[in-house]
Amino acid sequence: MRHTRTPMNLPLIGAALVGLGAGALLSYPGWGLALSMLAWSIYHARQFNKVMSWLSREADDMPPEGTGLWGDLLDQLARRRKRAVAREDKLKAVISRFQQSTASLFDAIVIIDRDNNLEWWNKAAETLLGFQDSDRGKSIFNLARDPRFIRYYQKEQYQEPLQLVSPINSHTFLQHQISRFGDGDRVLVSRDVTRLVKLEQTRQDFVANASHELRTPLTVIHGYVETFLEQDLPRPLHRGLSQMQHQTTRMERLVADLLLLSRLEATEHITDLHPVGIQRLIEQIHRDAEELSGDRAHHFQVEIEPGYQLLGQELELHSALSNLVFNAVRYTPGPGEISIRWWVDDKGGHFSVKDSGIGIDPIHIPRLTERFYRVDESRSSASGGTGLGLAIVKHVLMRHGAHLTIKSKTGEGSTFTCHFPPDMVRPVIEAVSN
Ligand code: ADP
Repeated sequence: MRHTRTPMNLPLIGAALVGLGAGALLSYPGWGLALSMLAWSIYHARQFNKVMSWLSREADDMPPEGTGLWGDLLDQLARRRKRAVAREDKLKAVISRFQQSTASLFDAIVIIDRDNNLEWWNKAAETLLGFQDSDRGKSIFNLARDPRFIRYYQKEQYQEPLQLVSPINSHTFLQHQISRFGDGDRVLVSRDVTRLVKLEQTRQDFVANASHELRTPLTVIHGYVETFLEQDLPRPLHRGLSQMQHQTTRMERLVADLLLLSRLEATEHITDLHPVGIQRLIEQIHRDAEELSGDRAHHFQVEIEPGYQLLGQELELHSALSNLVFNAVRYTPGPGEISIRWWVDDKGGHFSVKDSGIGIDPIHIPRLTERFYRVDESRSSASGGTGLGLAIVKHVLMRHGAHLTIKSKTGEGSTFTCHFPPDMVRPVIEAVSN
């Protein structure tokens, strides 16, 4: 029902005039006015009570009848109430659809508030992470106790996911990925990756076993070839055997690199760290690189900030750093420049190898550390590489909490830099003699 708006004080003036007039007729205008005002107040108090009791009832209850100003007010209120109910219904439908869709997901989704308390999660979080209704509002640290998860959560560098064994089933592997939203809130997505982990494990085992099995026959063939080459043989036979020797040496290097790589892949982080004298290590690699350079006579420049040790595995570090230096020698025509540097700053320790060699087109750089990825197949084989050098570098660095950056341009040389975190670098404490 639609009411026309009544001017606010007309009825009041009308009631006052009627009271005043009636009172005047009876010679009591004052009493007449007072009585009409009393009647006016009682009427409005009753209307007010009616409206209040309607407002306190269900939203779809019909509004009471009202006249004049009360009619306008009830009309407005009823329309607003209807709109609010429609909005609420729409919102309820959206929430219910969202809940149904998240409940159907296989991945666990958890919303964590800015105080690190669990706010909401879907059904899969209960099966994968073991959350229960009573956990609502509890701190995430009470439920996810693995120190690696806590470190990942607190470090706030969520570009890479974290893979861990499930807290409720030791045969299940979960991949966790966190992202931030709102005012310091986080959403955690946990995915069951058991099948992928098992496949990866099978692949690693296969490569390790195949490489291991190839080692013995190769050693035997190589041994015989070397023995035959010592004999006085006709020239064509000698040439053929020399080639066989060259190829078996290459295959032995390949098998050795494959075995090293599968050993490195077996665990993500090193558990037993030892202090490694970085200066001595670089000097030794420099000597070997000069030998590899031979007649090509590269010009080496070596700058080492003295007095530091790196925490890690010496053999692995030797393999990674020497791969970078030997690549510089192999891909820089003589007598090019090769500069080797080690320095320490507030971001940690850095080892870089800069050469003035053939360089790499930047489009190849993102894929360079993949196994067997080669920019130029013919050039790489001629240089005697296995195609696994940079993959080994990447894994060794990962195990040491470090990472590799590559800058290069075709024809202008390349710079490979290893960045070690500050907690892996420590100063050498000299023994004080009296
Ligand atoms: P390889 O055994 O073939 O050298 P790596 O994994 O060590 O394998 O290197 C991958 C590819 O990266 C190489 O084939 C080569 O094309 C390129 N590369 C590596 N280091 C350099 C460098 N210093 N200068 C130019 N190209 C390089």
